[in-house]
Amino acid sequence: MTGATTKRDLRTGRSLWADSPGLGVRARSLTEAISVDVAIVGAGISGAFMAHELARDHSVAVLDRRPPLMGSTLASTALLQWEIDLPLTALAGRIGMAKAHRAYRRSRSAVDALKRIVAQEGIRCGLKPKQALYLAGDEYGHRALEAEAEARAAMGLESRYLGPADLRARFGVERTGAILSDGSASADPARLAAGLLRRAIENGARVWSPVEVLEAVEDPDGVTLLTDAGHAVRAKKVVFCCGYEFPKGVPTPGAEVISTWAMASKARTRCPAWLRDMLVWEASDPYLYLRMGGDGRLIVGGEDEASATAHEDPAKLVRKCETLTHKLRRLLPEVDFEVDYVWAGAFGESATGLPQIGPVEGMNHVHAVMGFGGNGITYSVIASQVVGRAVRGEADPDGDLYRA
Ligand SMILES: Cc1cc2nc3c(=O)[nH]c(=O)nc-3n(C[C@H](O)[C@H](O)[C@H](O)COP(=O)(O)OP(=O)(O)OC[C@H]3O[C@@H](n4cnc5c(N)ncnc54)[C@H](O)[C@@H]3O)c2cc1C
Repeated sequence: MTGATTKRDLRTGRSLWADSPGLGVRARSLTEAISVDVAIVGAGISGAFMAHELARDHSVAVLDRRPPLMGSTLASTALLQWEIDLPLTALAGRIGMAKAHRAYRRSRSAVDALKRIVAQEGIRCGLKPKQALYLAGDEYGHRALEAEAEARAAMGLESRYLGPADLRARFGVERTGAILSDGSASADPARLAAGLLRRAIENGARVWSPVEVLEAVEDPDGVTLLTDAGHAVRAKKVVFCCGYEFPKGVPTPGAEVISTWAMASKARTRCPAWLRDMLVWEASDPYLYLRMGGDGRLIVGGEDEASATAHEDPAKLVRKCETLTHKLRRLLPEVDFEVDYVWAGAFGESATGLPQIGPVEGMNHVHAVMGFGGNGITYSVIASQVVGRAVRGEADPDGDLYRA
């Protein structure tokens, strides 16, 4: 594909994180009916944050039809950002300025909460605080980004506009403008999810896998989950954390599943020093984004396509990664990018760029979290807070933002 990499060497279709150490999570076979306070369907990063949040004061069962972490969590490039796919100014046009402010503030505090949890729990997932550089592109040019940076700064967010001369001098990047923001991070998403699940297990949660949930039947006192194991799971509350595999019978208004691609270079790739502390993304459609991993790999992604199945096409995987490599070389010509891993995955979009988190219509005891966009992991944190409160019978001040 590129440079000296041969097809034999290249780990095609395999996510970088599949080879991470420390992914072991103890899972059990469901050999009899069980009864718990909360059943969480999905053992990805969303189910992991949810289990971590709820296992402290509830009995929790996490159920997954695959081994834990094998959904989109393993594909994630894990840029942990508070900046939403839709700029603040554009989001305000869709949901109003007051709500857009709340959505941005909530994302900002969720990234802080994520960092706090990782530190408090001592989860080894390569979490690193980073700045984010949002480059002008074909969707939002330099004027739009300048207005965006002002709107963010006016509400106290740590974003500032950089003109082309500044960008060139500080980063050697040729673009008409950019926004530089503080407060983001990156991590290994699989180790993060595994660490959270292990802490939840220490607090009494149990992970059951492989167990497919076929149907949720509600009655006034709770929910019975029918499973392919032939044994039912009885729960007072159920939370579907199924990523982009929307559960049957759960309405998903405005949600669309699309495909996206990613790749990682060999370890210890020589890159400009500033890139070690930076997430880079661009205001283009389709877009390019990149960041470095802890072992000096450059992780690059983007080229999203409005198809739920394109990510399964091996020929497209090669073509998309050639395009990403080409775009990367144009942006950072000095980087000698030698591809090691290339992979693809499903991804979700919603009409507002905000996810859906909350009770399933017509059901009192069932919640669903889904429709996450590019900063899906930030929304996994928010989902655990919003649903955590709902399960305890409390209201979340921003719950309305995430209901369609
Ligand atoms: C290539 C790529 C790059 C990304 N980059 C970023 C990024 O940089 N930053 C970011 O924040 N987000 C990113 N995302 C998005 C982020 O990865 C997702 O938001 C996140 O992985 C969703 O996690 P989840 O736990 O909700 O879903 P998943 O990890 O998909 O887990 C859902 C689980 O539910 C299980 N399941 C589904 N249905 C059933 C059923 N009926 N019974 C039992 N089990 C079931 C599945 O087996 C699966 O394990 C990216 C996504 C992709 C694909």
